[in-house]
Amino acid sequence: MMAGTAAGLAVAGIAAPAAAQRAKSAAGAALPDPRTRYPRPPFDTAMQPFPGLAGKMTPRPDHGETSYVGSGRLTGRRALVTGGDSGIGRAAAIAFAREGADVAISYLPAEEADAREVIALIRQAGRTALGLPGDIRDERWCNRMVAQTVRELGGLDLLVNNAGRQQQRQALADLSSEDFDATMKTNLYAMFWITKAALPHLPAGASIIQTTSEQAYDPSANLVDYAMTKAAMMNFTKSLAKQLGPKGIRVNGVAPGPIWTPLQVAGGATAEKLREFGGDTSLGRPGQPVELGSIFVQLAANDATFSTGQVYGAAGGTGQP
Ligand code: NAD
Ligand code: MG
Repeated sequence: MMAGTAAGLAVAGIAAPAAAQRAKSAAGAALPDPRTRYPRPPFDTAMQPFPGLAGKMTPRPDHGETSYVGSGRLTGRRALVTGGDSGIGRAAAIAFAREGADVAISYLPAEEADAREVIALIRQAGRTALGLPGDIRDERWCNRMVAQTVRELGGLDLLVNNAGRQQQRQALADLSSEDFDATMKTNLYAMFWITKAALPHLPAGASIIQTTSEQAYDPSANLVDYAMTKAAMMNFTKSLAKQLGPKGIRVNGVAPGPIWTPLQVAGGATAEKLREFGGDTSLGRPGQPVELGSIFVQLAANDATFSTGQVYGAAGGTGQP
């Protein structure tokens, strides 16, 4: 209204600087500046042992705890988010609950403190929450946690394969077989086992979403094993979309750039990299998990029915896709 009035006066040739100024600041209030909205480097957060806790990071990541506002886009949906205790998975879990979904989150037992916060937030949104502590490198646990989700939520129609392991190693010689195996098991085998266990329960209209990475397209020198898995997750997304399209199940991915999460401070990045984390994006800062929440919602929502086999990038102006 204000903008329209100011524009009208300007067209009429009437000088109205005060009205124009008011219109500008009203528009400014509603338009967050992506450069300054969230913390910028340098950062000074303590490194943590794997898997790390969001609750111990400074600054604390923003997962949408106080800001994400839902509008019923996922009413009645039943979701399982792996790694839903912290980071990108927590942002998706909070957003899903506020959009009306019941949400199960999986995590490692060492992350109980983070998980409890998410479970409380899901319940505050008036939805059912289910916590699933366990190690997804174990196929039997993957099967059990899917069965428990279906039993306690009364079904499953939204699966987010988000849990991941990233441990940087400067040289291939430093990458042990145990490391390699742990990365493959966490990022690939678990995705395969959980998706396979979920499929018999997924109705037409259901969605599967992978958290892949810009590393799938432009791998870093010190993330050889991790980047391989992210490329494979991107490829899995595309083959499975072809296989499941005829069943009415959509499969998509999200490819984040640098996001401020425990994964990075718990061995994912070097201390030097962390200090300047995200400074090389065109926005000059890392993303916060909350900035991805609405992307997961969009890919899952009932009005995105023609989106399948897609990977949605969110990397602050760098990276692919
Ligand atoms: P995060 O540490 O908050 O989340 C990763 C989660 O994976 C952990 O919370 C943990 O619960 C889970 N996990 C790891 N190993 C597990 C195991 N063996 N069993 C059960 N759960 C296990 O960090 P995040 O950055 O939010 O990571 C989420 C996803 O985002 C990962 O797949 C990661 O590869 C991807 N990603 C992150 C970034 C980034 O910059 N942070 C960028 C691109 C992609
Ligand atoms: Mg965690």
